Parts: sequence; structure tokens; C-alpha cells
Amino acid sequence: MITLKNVIIITLDALRRDRLNLCNNLKEFEKKSFFFSNMITNSPYTMASFHTLHTGMHPSKNGVNGYYRMFRFKKNICKTLSQYLKEKNYYCVSDVVNKCLLPEQGFDEVMVHKKNIDMFLRQKELIKELIKKEPFFLHIQYSPIHNRLVKEVAEKYDDFSEEYFGNIKKNIQRYEGFVKECNEYVGKMNRLFEELKLFDNSIIIYHSDHGTSVGEKVGEKIYGVFTYDYTVKSFCYLYAPNIKTSKTRVQCRIIDIMPTILRMLNIPEDFSFITMQGKSLIPIIKEKEKKDRVAFIETGGIKGPWPSPEEHNVFCVRHDDKKLICNKTPSTWEFYDLEKDPEEKNNIYAKNDSIIKKYKEELKEIMFENKNYGL
Ligand SMILES: [Zn+2]
Repeated sequence: MITLKNVIIITLDALRRDRLNLCNNLKEFEKKSFFFSNMITNSPYTMASFHTLHTGMHPSKNGVNGYYRMFRFKKNICKTLSQYLKEKNYYCVSDVVNKCLLPEQGFDEVMVHKKNIDMFLRQKELIKELIKKEPFFLHIQYSPIHNRLVKEVAEKYDDFSEEYFGNIKKNIQRYEGFVKECNEYVGKMNRLFEELKLFDNSIIIYHSDHGTSVGEKVGEKIYGVFTYDYTVKSFCYLYAPNIKTSKTRVQCRIIDIMPTILRMLNIPEDFSFITMQGKSLIPIIKEKEKKDRVAFIETGGIKGPWPSPEEHNVFCVRHDDKKLICNKTPSTWEFYDLEKDPEEKNNIYAKNDSIIKKYKEELKEIMFENKNYGL
């Protein structure tokens, strides 16, 4: 029997799902993992997405539902992944670009890396140290795509810049350059895992916390403003020595990652804390579950057409083929047929349409469960 020891999560920050074709090293990793090609983020910006990953809960349930709510995490009632693992004697470490990005409790060390360093060299040394402390949990933020988007796009153009939104080709070229560097990093990490024999006893995950815009919708230069597919589509490669090698297109959510890890390690949920909203992905891996999971997404931009960094103001419910968006500040609705209109150019919202009414009910129910909002 294989005893699972370590847990390694690598968040490839801001890597778009539709650019995975440029990442042959992830394709290589796919051959030994289970690939969730249709994972949706529950919030398309780093801090909120990381908190959903570490709690299995939506932002408005765990308290981090706004850029300025980084210190509002409900730490007394939400149990984090690292808290669970700490109780099982894991040594828990994260390496991120900013301490505010994730809940600190449960971590032995929250390490912060500078923006212009060689991520691989740093983390190689870190992992070599961690092996001495097995079992360990390590969450790495691969931050260069994120950092360069902030520096070369967010800080350079305004939210409605014609120079930016009128040059999609140039934006794509710039972004794809970042992706190629990311792919090289993944290749080196894969070889390191091999060399250190971490594939023998570890759960290893590569995923992205959200995608990014390359100028598709005026008002959103990178991410965090809207809930369109170019930012909400994520993915997840899950490796464990005993996992089936396959893939699925079934829609799932980032909140599902944490319950999956706990299930794989036979750690039961602690019901003295708020219940997780994510569900284990094992039934999907075993093909016992074939229906898409409804994804709830929420955000509030720092900038953009209706900034709301204090509290989220854009809410969305997404099925595999259709999506409803509620823009609370301007009080507008959008509805898209993602099969016929994957670029979400044609808003077909109609108040009395029976399918749209059903989506509205779903959205209301989830928001009621999250408790912080009413529509
Ligand atoms: Zn991010």
C-alpha cells in the first residue's frame, strides 16, 4: 500500500486555460496525473481565489470578499487546509509574493519572495530543506506572470486605454512570452520532483487561480473586474502515486480542491467549524459523477467601470454551457450561451425567460447560503 506523505500545490498565477497548448511540460505532467480541464475559479483575483483554495468556501462565506477585506478572514470559524494538515503533524509552508494572499493560520512559515528572483532556484533549495521535515505541505505561488501583468499592463495603461484594448495582437504576444517562461519553470520543477523521488509519496497539484484578459472587454485590463470566461476558466492537474491517469471535461470548482486532498489523506471534515462548500472530486475521477457542478463566482474590481474594492459587486452562476451575471452596482444582468457564443459578445438576458429564472434562483440560493448578500 502507498502511504501518501507530502502535499505540494503550485499555483501558476494567471495562467489562462486556453494557453495550455504552449505548455508542453504541463502536457508531460498530464501523462501521469488526472486532468480537470474544466475547473472554474470562484473569484478571479489572487487573494480571494487563494482564500477559496485554502477554505473550500466562497469568498462571501469565508469573509475575504473584497480587495480591502484581506484582514476580514473569519479565522475563528473557518478551518484552513494547513490547519487540518498541521494537526496531522505536517510541516506547512507557503511561498508567495505577498503575505496577505492567504490565511496564515496552520502555516509554520509564510515565506515571501521578491519579484525579480529565479523562482526555481529558490524553491529547489526550499524543497530540499522540507524533505528533511516530512511530511510537509507546500503551497507555491508561481508569481512572474502575475507580477509582469501588473507591471507591464495594469500600471501602464488606464482602464479604458485605446492603446491597450485596440492592440489585442500585441497583448497576446506579450502574454504568451510570460507563458513560455512559466512552462520552463514547470519543466524544471517536474525534473526536481523526479530527482527527489517526490512522485513516490506526494500529492502534487498544478493549477491556476484565475486567467487574465488580453483586452477582450474594455474596462478590464487584466482580471478581478468582471466574471467573463477568459478570467474564470482555470484548470487542475492532480497527481498522486495511486491516482488514475485520465482527464475530464466535467465542470468543477477551485473550492473542490481542498475537500479532495482531505479525502485522499483520509482526514474527515471537522464540523465544529463552518462546513466547506466544495465537494471531493473523487466521484468525478471514478466516473460516478458526470454532471457539471454549478459554479458560483464573485468579484469586485479595484478599478474598472464600477470599482468596488470594499465588497464584491459582481456575481455569476455558471453551468458548462450557460452563464448568468449580476452586476449589482449598475443593477444590470447578462446571460450568455457559452456554446454558441464562447466570447460572450451577445447578451441574451431576458427577464421572463424560464431558464434565466432558474439561474436567478440558483444564484439567490447560493448567495443566501453565503449569507452576506441579498439581491
Ligand atoms: Zn492570481
